[in-house]
Amino acid sequence: MDLSQFDWKFKLFGFPVRVMVSFWLICVFFSPFSTGQNGPWLFGLLGWSAAVFLSILIHELGHAFAMRKVYGTTPTIDLGIGRASRGAFVFGGLTSSYSNDQVPIKRALTAAAGPVAEITSAFALALALIPLGFRFELTTIFGFIPTITADVNSFLFFGSAPLIYFVYCFVEGFVWVGGVWGLFNLAPVFPCDGGQILLSALGQTMGAVGVRIALFASIVVSVALGYLFLRDENWFMTFFFFFSAYQNYRLLAYRSPRF
Ligand SMILES: [Zn+2]
Repeated sequence: MDLSQFDWKFKLFGFPVRVMVSFWLICVFFSPFSTGQNGPWLFGLLGWSAAVFLSILIHELGHAFAMRKVYGTTPTIDLGIGRASRGAFVFGGLTSSYSNDQVPIKRALTAAAGPVAEITSAFALALALIPLGFRFELTTIFGFIPTITADVNSFLFFGSAPLIYFVYCFVEGFVWVGGVWGLFNLAPVFPCDGGQILLSALGQTMGAVGVRIALFASIVVSVALGYLFLRDENWFMTFFFFFSAYQNYRLLAYRSPRF
């Protein structure tokens, strides 16, 4: 069955956006709220899905606005897992634009704009809610990577109505996804945004050797992160980083990106 007939397409700030069915499947599959521990699971799932959608959309809009400014193009945004509108493979979200302009500093700027927009929006929402009585905690992933989580009790203080639970799951999801996925996107792993930045910088300064160093660094970092997530039993991130290690190995062995 061709699932693309169920794609949700719309334009936002002039950018064509396409949301694949697989995007909502990721949300359902990875929802931490489907157990309904503190409220009705359906409202938890809806709040979480809205948060993932908005956080990733803001991330891609960051890229899109930067590309429009830097290249003068109108990029397309694809969300989900599958083939993007312009042929590349998308895993989560992808903003693509036709441009032959490969100036490394421009590539680095447009790559950085996504995570910066996503992480900033996560912290901005938390900061805006603190004066209203909602509390957040600074925690760490693997004991050394900082992130923020919402304190459920400060939300349940406002009552136990399904709508309050929806808001809690939305806020918790939004700060978590923005803080964690946004941050890991900055890891020097190609094709994550951080990897694009590293590849551009080393490719520019050292040419083909720099590209190979960036790919090698990608493999080392993705294996290390994959192992840490494996220990944490986070299967999605484990798969993502081990798969990235394999992809980078293939690029290094057979087909380095050209500069
Ligand atoms: Zn990105």
